[in-house]
Amino acid sequence: MSKRVFNFSPGPAVLPVKVLEEAQQAVLELPGVGMSILEISHRSKPFDAVMTEAKSLLTELLGIPAGYSILFLQGGSSLQFSMVAMNLLRGTGKTADYVLTGTWGTKAFQEAQREGTARAAWDGKSHNYAYLPAQNELKFSPDAAYVHITSNETIQGVEFPAEPDTGSISLVCDASSNFLSRPVAVERYGLIYACAQKNAGISGVTAVIIRDDLLKRTPKGLPAMLDYQLQAANDSLYNTPPVFGIYVLMLIARWLKHDIGGLKKMAEINQEKAKLLYDVLDANPDFYRGHARADSRSMMNVTWRLPSEELEQAFVKQAQSRSLVDLKGHRSVGGIRASIYNAMPREGVVALRDFMLEFKQQNGG
Ligand code: PMP
Repeated sequence: MSKRVFNFSPGPAVLPVKVLEEAQQAVLELPGVGMSILEISHRSKPFDAVMTEAKSLLTELLGIPAGYSILFLQGGSSLQFSMVAMNLLRGTGKTADYVLTGTWGTKAFQEAQREGTARAAWDGKSHNYAYLPAQNELKFSPDAAYVHITSNETIQGVEFPAEPDTGSISLVCDASSNFLSRPVAVERYGLIYACAQKNAGISGVTAVIIRDDLLKRTPKGLPAMLDYQLQAANDSLYNTPPVFGIYVLMLIARWLKHDIGGLKKMAEINQEKAKLLYDVLDANPDFYRGHARADSRSMMNVTWRLPSEELEQAFVKQAQSRSLVDLKGHRSVGGIRASIYNAMPREGVVALRDFMLEFKQQNGG
């Protein structure tokens, strides 16, 4: 195999080598089945076993209580922006409250506005989404259909350390970029969704964890594919699901359980990795300017600026020559973004840390 670089891409992103090897094997032959994972029917016994194992591993890893359904859907998290509002807001006559902490929360909000009355309960735009609201800044509509948050804003690099308290209002969360990176109190949520291509596998499958009472809210007349109730009743097999994506998600869940030792352990590893980079930002504030305020920092996407765009370009280019790739920040924010998801090895983060220190020495005096 050619030498693997350290891939800091925001997603699709780095995967564990072990999972890639297992997926490679399954592309030739699913162990014991005599056919490729790409060739088997979604209604076959082997695939039924994959689905069952994927769901039972997610239930175990996240401690999902009884009374929730796990769905594997297509259309990415962007389709969830619409499905959430179609299923939980349409026709209710209520308002949905959105907490806007960055680009993705804002996109979710815009989609909800197409469906009904959606209101920004908080908007961090004035400070370019550098920090998250404190609990006492959040005033929800008393009769809100739900409150929507984005647990980790992939572009700005801000992450809720814990979910806000929404009282009796159902909490809906876009967890795309920190799903499976730490334990979650699932019982505090009505619905959690996450596209898989960051921590949970590959693009093409989106996990949705929904509390069963919310399934009853689906209004009549939705297109079948966009109807949570129908998808749950058919166990995500209303049509052909993304078979390979679900298989890789299952392999990732196995890896998290057996190789990592669960989400608490994963969170400790992630925190230690992120600290390696944040320590450099803290020690060199006149050269590296972190985007996120310290109390809102993401453990998944670390974002910062350099003194000039020329230096930022040079940083990205020189990093690349050392096999540290995809560090350019999102065009809307600029600067540098290091995405250090579950599968980013510690050595990759150490190599980036060392490069940051060296680059500063050479360019910042
Ligand atoms: N939400 C968040 C937090 C994301 O990071 C992304 C993808 N970068 C999306 C939503 C959109 O996901 P998709 O491309 O699967 O629609």
